[in-house]
Amino acid sequence: MKLDPQTVIAGKSLLLLDFDGPVCSVFAGYPASQIAAELVESLRELAPQIADAIKDEHDPMEVLRGAANSLPRAQIDSIDEQLSLAESLAVESAEPTPGIGNLISTAVTAGLTVAIVSNNSAGAIAKYLKCHGLDEAIEAIIGRPFGLPERMKPDPYLLNEVLKVTGTDAQGACFVGDSVTDIEAGKNAGVMTIGYANKEGKAKRLKDAGASLVVESF
Ligand SMILES: [Mg+2]
Repeated sequence: MKLDPQTVIAGKSLLLLDFDGPVCSVFAGYPASQIAAELVESLRELAPQIADAIKDEHDPMEVLRGAANSLPRAQIDSIDEQLSLAESLAVESAEPTPGIGNLISTAVTAGLTVAIVSNNSAGAIAKYLKCHGLDEAIEAIIGRPFGLPERMKPDPYLLNEVLKVTGTDAQGACFVGDSVTDIEAGKNAGVMTIGYANKEGKAKRLKDAGASLVVESF
């Protein structure tokens, strides 16, 4: 199924986009698994037992989340800082998602506010948007709160923040995400969700998680 922008924006005033997946493939050139391994190596110096427990984790956000469960605050900050730097480097070789520019400009032309809600760091997202000429179309970027990975999606914190910043009711927003955690965060915040199934098998997972609509392309 192809995404009809009119379907997305009907009756909505705020279009929310997850970053990695819907906007671009962040780790296309600097693989997430490599960043995860580098974080585990740093973690090994701080807390060898935790590093051992999560050494097979391929998602750098999950390494950060795992570290946060047992490390003191200053050490969580240092892992988050390392991840933020890696993301900032990764966006230089990120691959834009086909059709996303058209979806964003259609929404802006129709009078919608467009914002990003992501577990990635806001600095890396801002760098990507500027580099791809999308910074003016995007009203707000709500990224992972530094040093507080427990507030990442599926927690509704980021969605509640963007609703607050843009002065929008949950009913006035729709959120496009490619992960089950996006759909869960949307549900937790009372926001309609659209699943972007960019990989084999994702459509069913996103539908089962409760996405109002699942699309395979923009
Ligand atoms: Mg994503």
